[in-house]
Amino acid sequence: VEDEAHIIELARLYFEREGFRVSAVGDGEAALEAARRENPALLVLDVMLPKLDGFEVCKRVRAKSDVPIIMLTARDDDLDKIIGLELGADDYLTKPFNPRELVARVKAILRRSERAAPRADNAALHLNDVTIDPAAREVLVRGKRVTLRTKEFDLLLTLAENKGLVLTREKLLELVWGFDYVGQTRTIDVHVAHVRKALAGSQVTIET
Ligand code: CA
Repeated sequence: VEDEAHIIELARLYFEREGFRVSAVGDGEAALEAARRENPALLVLDVMLPKLDGFEVCKRVRAKSDVPIIMLTARDDDLDKIIGLELGADDYLTKPFNPRELVARVKAILRRSERAAPRADNAALHLNDVTIDPAAREVLVRGKRVTLRTKEFDLLLTLAENKGLVLTREKLLELVWGFDYVGQTRTIDVHVAHVRKALAGSQVTIET
């Protein structure tokens, strides 16, 4: 999110060379809209923007989503604000910045959030009377196999791996459908309903 076209183009060049897909918008309101619509893996957000400034955008996005945010700032007092206001930004860079440095920061943050995602080993999970076996992609409810579609299984596994934690719809989309998914959080509701049905009669519940 940046209103200076040459900065966008420079960043785009470096990101695309590394295989990232870049979607650029030039003001704060468009940023909020794009954050909602495109479910991005990460936001790079300039402070000085038309309509809504980067602080406000950061605050509003953060109220709804835990998408990583890197803020760009040209002034020291902006930096003080980013830190002081605890806006929830994950990192910041001061302008003028080296685009390589920006790409490196983005990669570091994405690596961090991937580590927070589902574990790599394939051991079966036992939750009360439900067994989830990632290797066989099989779910047993009180010893009986239930049928789940691919994403329903992934959703259940993700929830089970994060048992007891609150996951936003956006976070679930990110973890289960992946960063590239373009769609609506309503998808989550539909899949949760199916998984709940499959778990009916077990001691495991998905709480909203
Ligand atoms: Ca700007």
